[in-house]
Amino acid sequence: MGMGLPVLSERRFGDGERPPRAPAHAHASRRMLDSHGRTIRDLRLSLTDRCNFRCTYCMDPDVRFLPKLRLLKVDQIVRLARVCVGLGVEKVRLTGGEPTLHPELTRVIRELAALRADDLALTTNGSRMSDADLAAWKDAGLGRVTISLDSLRPERFAAITRSGSSAAEVVEGARRVMRAGFSPPKLNAVVIRGTNEDEVPDLAGLARDLGIEFRFIEFMPLDSARAWDRSMVVPGDEIIERINDVYPLVPLGRVAHSGTAEEWGFADGAPGRIGVIAPVTRPFCGACSRLRITADGKVRPCLFSTREWDLKPLLDAGAPDREIEEFLIDATWTKQAGHGISSEGFEQPARTMSAIGG
Ligand code: SAM
Ligand code: SF4
Repeated sequence: MGMGLPVLSERRFGDGERPPRAPAHAHASRRMLDSHGRTIRDLRLSLTDRCNFRCTYCMDPDVRFLPKLRLLKVDQIVRLARVCVGLGVEKVRLTGGEPTLHPELTRVIRELAALRADDLALTTNGSRMSDADLAAWKDAGLGRVTISLDSLRPERFAAITRSGSSAAEVVEGARRVMRAGFSPPKLNAVVIRGTNEDEVPDLAGLARDLGIEFRFIEFMPLDSARAWDRSMVVPGDEIIERINDVYPLVPLGRVAHSGTAEEWGFADGAPGRIGVIAPVTRPFCGACSRLRITADGKVRPCLFSTREWDLKPLLDAGAPDREIEEFLIDATWTKQAGHGISSEGFEQPARTMSAIGG
């Protein structure tokens, strides 16, 4: 046996798969339509599957990341986004893994901002945002920042994220985002029974102190430990009750069409807002306008897709835009009607949230 390089020939989920052809009217529309009457307007682009945290509900401590060779290059990411904007995408959100680990994030932002989608946003764990980074991202054209924060208690934060960061650092990051001239960032917490549901009112209190929107997300079966169980889901209604007991709320409804969050304001007129994202107890699949592309170039029409479509071979081969467009239109047509978490025979996708792009 020679000493050669490790063989990367093992076939992975979705490698090389092409979607079946969508009907002619979908192609004629030059839009990404699905077979259930929805149109894609919102693109989630994962820049990396790597992360400096190991959140218990997302990533294994001994996770194996994709080899860097398999990840899309910046030119390919930008090209894909450009084609998607040409097909009607209005919002682009950069995510991961942890997108701030991408070595060329500022360049990615600058080149995507030049596409002039209505909205360019970033979701981050908030641990890697210096004033200089934020200034560079703002200057490059980033529109909005969303930060994840599941606990304010030092020990609990450490136990959930299994990171060297701290809640205080993340809260300071949120303040820095505002000082850098961005609109107030949204903060997100995943609420898990027995882990942090008792802290929901404290997190809502932070929304008041900072004058920001705090969004609470129901735990979804996308965890690497495959420990998800319905009993661990804290329903959106209960989250609202817990906050309402301490800070009375007034409903504001679902603010934007296809917005995932239902929103509340504080009855005493305090600044800040509460959002609840309840995919498990109140699915919003009927209004979904999202499409996800993973860091290795797989198109996932649904967060819960069990099939995904591999665009990388076309990008690597330098295929013309027309072919990329057709591929995206075909892939979108396969978008499933709903996530099916509550149906019998529900199958958790092979990829975890971190490998999909949340
Ligand atoms: N690393 C960044 C972060 O944490 O914000 C961006 C990627 S992360 C996968 C995006 C979002 O997905 C985060 O708000 C995270 O809390 C959420 N998430 C991860 N696993 C989840 C799960 N099993 N259920 C619900 N939300 C989850
Ligand atoms: Fe990393 Fe975000 Fe997943 Fe936490 S939720 S492990 S920060 S990708």
